[in-house]
Amino acid sequence: MPPRKALVIGAGIAGPATALFLKRAGIDAIVHEAAPAPDDHQGLFLNLATNGVRVLHALGLEAALTACGSSCRGMAMHNDEGRLLATITNGAVEGRGPASLVILRGTLQRVLREAAMDAGIPFRFGKRLLRIEDDGHTVTAWFEDGTTDQGDLLIGCDGLRSRTRRLLLPQAPDPRYTGLLSLGARTHDASIAPTPDRMHMFFGKQAFFGYTARPDGDILWFSNIARADEPARGELDAWSSLDRRDLLLDQHASDPDTVRRIIASTRGAIGAYPIHDLPRLDAWHRGLGCVIGDAAHATSPHAGQGAAMALEDAMLLARTLRGAAHIPEAFARFEDLRRERVTKLVAFAARTGKNKLPTTPLGRGLRDLFLPMALKVFASPSAMSWVDQYRIDWDEAA
Ligand SMILES: Cc1cc2nc3c(=O)[nH]c(=O)nc-3n(C[C@H](O)[C@H](O)[C@H](O)COP(=O)(O)OP(=O)(O)OC[C@H]3O[C@@H](n4cnc5c(N)ncnc54)[C@H](O)[C@@H]3O)c2cc1C
Repeated sequence: MPPRKALVIGAGIAGPATALFLKRAGIDAIVHEAAPAPDDHQGLFLNLATNGVRVLHALGLEAALTACGSSCRGMAMHNDEGRLLATITNGAVEGRGPASLVILRGTLQRVLREAAMDAGIPFRFGKRLLRIEDDGHTVTAWFEDGTTDQGDLLIGCDGLRSRTRRLLLPQAPDPRYTGLLSLGARTHDASIAPTPDRMHMFFGKQAFFGYTARPDGDILWFSNIARADEPARGELDAWSSLDRRDLLLDQHASDPDTVRRIIASTRGAIGAYPIHDLPRLDAWHRGLGCVIGDAAHATSPHAGQGAAMALEDAMLLARTLRGAAHIPEAFARFEDLRRERVTKLVAFAARTGKNKLPTTPLGRGLRDLFLPMALKVFASPSAMSWVDQYRIDWDEAA
């Protein structure tokens, strides 16, 4: 018998997208989320790459989300004096795909969740997964509030610190701290020149900075700063936005004026996160349970691909489960289809992140000299086509 009911754990990016694709595959999903209510204000913004936007298109949500964000066709890379080192164009060039989308992480999550709710998919909040029981035919999820739910399969979309991963795959490694923090916010400063269709990035003397400015003066920005030891849980939450702004002004003290003006203009909350990724897991599934998205293969944000990978997983897993007679086999097939791509991407993002670490004056000089050539070769649209020209054909047999 093909599966009829899936328990989806987590209502971030992968969860609602998976539920929507499962519905299309003829499988009812119910989404269980730990948070007591939707909270769409967590996280910074993200650049959803062309391959991720293609999945939104398949869900019929590309237009709705494009209206909430700004399109991005490439990046302008600068050194610590503001000199343009190189420009990189993404998959949108030459009509090879949609532009990538710069969007608040919470907005992406909200639009996906609302689309799923409109499609009649039930969401249950305040359901923190604690335990799973799998008798080979049915899987039962136990939640912190003492309730349970049963289904034919369970999909863990519960992110970096996934409880599902710990329960299904107790030997799996813990997330790895990458030595960088990410801070960022939204601000408004009409005196900053708009950056239509581009993100501007700066290899600062001590820290890395990126921003995009809309013609109406709305600016989204982030800074990656080096910190060797992993912050204790809750440590960054204890810093006020004012502390964060002062720290950033200090870190970017000798960087171009635009960088400091953007930070100084920020009056609202400044988010701060340690950046992690997840070392390779031996498996992503056991019995009737499987993990996807950050729960299976969290990547650092330096390749702008975490959300895109979660969306691709959602589509491909639902396609693989469509009509599947044997769930563990379908999970194994899904893992086979995905593993090579995501492993390559996590490694690529980790390498990119290393270039953001501060270096000596000699290191900076060499970077300014060689980076333009290196980017021309390694970041050209054809060199990056393995990332953004990836397509999933929903109609292909599983
Ligand atoms: C600072 C930062 C910048 C980023 N920049 C980019 C970018 O530029 N481009 C990009 O593509 N990606 C980026 N990402 C990554 C992207 O946000 C994630 O890869 C993406 O959100 C992964 O989706 P997910 O659904 O797997 O996990 P998440 O979005 O983390 O969702 C997990 C959900 O599960 C819930 N949950 C957790 N535990 C439980 C439990 N026990 N029971 C029930 N529910 C639970 C959580 O509350 C959450 O709602 C960035 C991430 C960060 C932190």
